[in-house]
Amino acid sequence: PLSIRGLRKSFGDNEVLRGIDLHIPAGQFVAIVGKSGCGKSTLLRLIAGLEKIDAGSIGFGDDIQPEDIRVMFQEPRLLPWARVLSNVEVGLGRDRASDDAQSRAEKALAEVGLADKRDQWPAVLSGGQKQRVALARALVSRPRVLAFDEPLGALDALTRISMQRLLERVWRDQGFTAILVTHDVAEAVALADRVLVIEQGRIAHDVMVNAARPRQRGSVELAGLEGSI
Ligand code: ATP
Ligand code: MG
Repeated sequence: PLSIRGLRKSFGDNEVLRGIDLHIPAGQFVAIVGKSGCGKSTLLRLIAGLEKIDAGSIGFGDDIQPEDIRVMFQEPRLLPWARVLSNVEVGLGRDRASDDAQSRAEKALAEVGLADKRDQWPAVLSGGQKQRVALARALVSRPRVLAFDEPLGALDALTRISMQRLLERVWRDQGFTAILVTHDVAEAVALADRVLVIEQGRIAHDVMVNAARPRQRGSVELAGLEGSI
């Protein structure tokens, strides 16, 4: 679980987050929405340890270490001089040197449907394919928490829909805690268990959605689900 208490963050005299209290149970899919500039990305960066908090606390419980958290951004940020498979291996960090690094990266690439692109250069991939590689790089270390900052924001509508299905599938299959920042309320409601609305530096609304959705995970169940989306 992730427990956030009294979290505050300012930039100069711009008080962005003014006391965020939030408990996220392990495995939940949470979406964060709110107007541009309300502090969504800042909150995500604080959770991921990419930025220093001013006050309050972020606790991960015994089951999550800060290094179990991976972040995916709107831009895939692939290394242009490395082939697709090597880009995925980057996500293993220190484990990149281990014997099974390549097979783990191959497995992650297969999970995002890009097994056949392993020897390509990033430059020849479409925007959606690059984002899939970025997802494989995030998944390859089997993170406990995956934080997404507008990961689909730059994609066209059709690619976006197929990426939404992919995100939902990997979340169901792997059971990580998902925190998705999005401008798109429909996307938030379609994917998440719970939608948080940030206003004036606080969580103004905290709404459970999709309560009736099957909770049990696994590919077999998914096969039925995908046809119904
Ligand atoms: P968007 O939907 O446009 O991505 P957001 O909700 O993600 O917006 P943030 O990027 O978190 O908003 O920014 C919140 C506020 O903090 C904004 O006023 C922004 O200008 C400010 N801010 C964010 N990062 C910094 C920084 N490194 N230095 C100074 N100000 C910052
Ligand atoms: Mg943002």
